[in-house]
Amino acid sequence: MTMTIAIDGYSSCGKSTLAKALAKKLSFAYVDSGAMYRAVTHYFLRHDVDINNDIEVINALEKVKIDFVIIDGKNTCLLNGENVEFDIRSMRISNNVSEVAAIGTVREKLVGLQRSIASSKSIVMDGRDIGTVVFPDADIKFFVTADRKIRTKRRYQELIAAGKDVTMREVQQNLDHRDHIDTTREISPLRKAEDAIEIDNTYLTREEQLTLALKFIEEIK
Ligand code: C5P
Repeated sequence: MTMTIAIDGYSSCGKSTLAKALAKKLSFAYVDSGAMYRAVTHYFLRHDVDINNDIEVINALEKVKIDFVIIDGKNTCLLNGENVEFDIRSMRISNNVSEVAAIGTVREKLVGLQRSIASSKSIVMDGRDIGTVVFPDADIKFFVTADRKIRTKRRYQELIAAGKDVTMREVQQNLDHRDHIDTTREISPLRKAEDAIEIDNTYLTREEQLTLALKFIEEIK
């Protein structure tokens, strides 16, 4: 029997921290659906794909192959065999990804890939539409939230630690921009699934958040 854990929430709310910790604790695979949208955006920018031209988008999507491998113990995204894990975290990608993620054909391809990865194993997947669209029948769904200022600060610190050259203002603007597009787009907008458990981690440590989520998982077992 396999188990599917869906985690959704706004940008930089701590979803992936929770998803990775749960996957490690439960020995499940962690699937970062945001990395897939980032990888497609990377390909589109690199190849000057006009995102308003449906034919160009469809043709480009046919040439995109995304895989995940573990390198040095870390989940790593490969785009057509190339390790793009560092590049897809850049502000350039962050500033363009939500427009790409609003395109129906892009979502169709990536949702298909997300479902196929989960078909044979237990997974924890985080994103924006995992509990609502990708796995409406997930065994358990979490919707993670945190105060906007805290999210900005955490993201800023994360980017600086990863060697990125950014300002707090840029990070704040990017989070606001993505949250706006992600919640207002026509296809699969970000929203809390009716049966999702909300976790507000504004005042929680990583460990407290993990303990809380594990408690809920224990209850459904
Ligand atoms: O999770 P992450 O912040 O890396 O996601 C980057 C972007 O990808 C989001 O802002 C959103 O536009 C898009 N995304 C999405 N659906 C998902 C995961 C990510 O639309 N399931």
